[in-house]
Amino acid sequence: MLHVYNSLTRRKEPFEPLEPGRVRMYVCGMTVYDYCHLGHARVLVVFDVIVRYLRELGFDVTYVRNITDIDDKIIRRASENGEPFERLTQRFIEAMHEDAAALGVLPPDHEPRATASMDDIIRMIETLVAKGYAYQADNGDVYYDVSCFEGYGQLSGERPDDLRAGARIEVDEAKDDPLDFVLWKAAKPGEPSWPSPWGEGRPGWHIECSAMSTRCLGDHFDIHGGGMDLKFPHHENEIAQSEAATGHKFVNYWIHNGFIQVDEEKMSKSLGNFFTVREVLGRYQPEVVRFFILSSHYRSPLNYSEDNLDQARSGLDRLYTALRGARPDEGEMLPDFLLRFRDAMDDDFNTPEAIALLFELARDLNRAKEQDAPEAADLAATLRGLGSILGLLQADPQLYLRGGGAPEGLSDAEIEALLAARAEARARKDWAESDRIRDQLRDAGILLEDGPRGTSWRRA
Ligand code: ZN
Repeated sequence: MLHVYNSLTRRKEPFEPLEPGRVRMYVCGMTVYDYCHLGHARVLVVFDVIVRYLRELGFDVTYVRNITDIDDKIIRRASENGEPFERLTQRFIEAMHEDAAALGVLPPDHEPRATASMDDIIRMIETLVAKGYAYQADNGDVYYDVSCFEGYGQLSGERPDDLRAGARIEVDEAKDDPLDFVLWKAAKPGEPSWPSPWGEGRPGWHIECSAMSTRCLGDHFDIHGGGMDLKFPHHENEIAQSEAATGHKFVNYWIHNGFIQVDEEKMSKSLGNFFTVREVLGRYQPEVVRFFILSSHYRSPLNYSEDNLDQARSGLDRLYTALRGARPDEGEMLPDFLLRFRDAMDDDFNTPEAIALLFELARDLNRAKEQDAPEAADLAATLRGLGSILGLLQADPQLYLRGGGAPEGLSDAEIEALLAARAEARARKDWAESDRIRDQLRDAGILLEDGPRGTSWRRA
């Protein structure tokens, strides 16, 4: 039986969905103002495998992953670029879809966008105001009154009084209590805004997820997921909003994946050790990146380093080498391996153990191939079949193994010419063309860094 680590109860629990045979799951998606980085790749791949495995177990899964397409960072970036915010978000939604597809991530069943969910968001805020959980402040913003919600801190383990002691109110905020958080932000001049009972404005981030998850999955559903950094305050606030609005439990199982580290340090823009998915895909085949992500347990930190990526590549090479020349289509899955695979995955989606089993299969398969033994086809069918549950090993082994090297290099002069063309495109605000050139360079293993003194480049 499947056991899942539930962040809410802080222990592994048997997984029992609300409705037998059906699973309803929501994961916090991207805020689309820039390219996805490795942390996003991990969320995409981890929850993709969870969905695939739940389906493998026979559950009818409804998977919702939202898009935050309005917020402060989006507004700031669009104004820096001098473009409408919708154009910026559309461009990065497309880029995110490309990255997800490259990593073998299946599209979610629903992908609601905040800007297309205003009615649901406003309705939920109205309910919270009517029930006395929210108030409009002097500056026009609407806030959630944390002191009214008894269970605050249940997910993060934070105590409201401790939080209050460490918190402070920013000068531009008008809330009563430092823990209160914004539900509706009054529009400042020139900002995108929507009409509401509290005047023109836009929603806070937390209420978007409460409203979108409820609309797609109902008031009470099975799984809510996201990166560990969202546990507090984002998910804590989602619980406070949703449970106050509906009067009952919001989510049964909270699943959080761990951080990405780079050379044992936390990945962050300020440390300069920040990688976009596109940069990494310029150097490694997408399936290697997926394999690398799954070779650590989803709750452990994932350490990005060239050594670890190279190790993932040689591991995946080994599996494909075993499959080369084998005939999986003529074999059948071996039930013993399937059982052991399920044991590993039933233990809180233990992908490293599941992958260890793939290596065991590859060793047996190599031996069977050498001896021309009849069980080779069954071993190959099992290896490829179990790989498919993880979204791995579905390529033609020949093609995968041939594509293993880095892309063909460009000369310095060719790179400079492309950079000049990109600068021209940017000057005439042709972002599509500028991004296309950036992608072309990325595919050739050239990384660009836009700075105050123009664009510099380096070879990956
Ligand atoms: Zn969210």
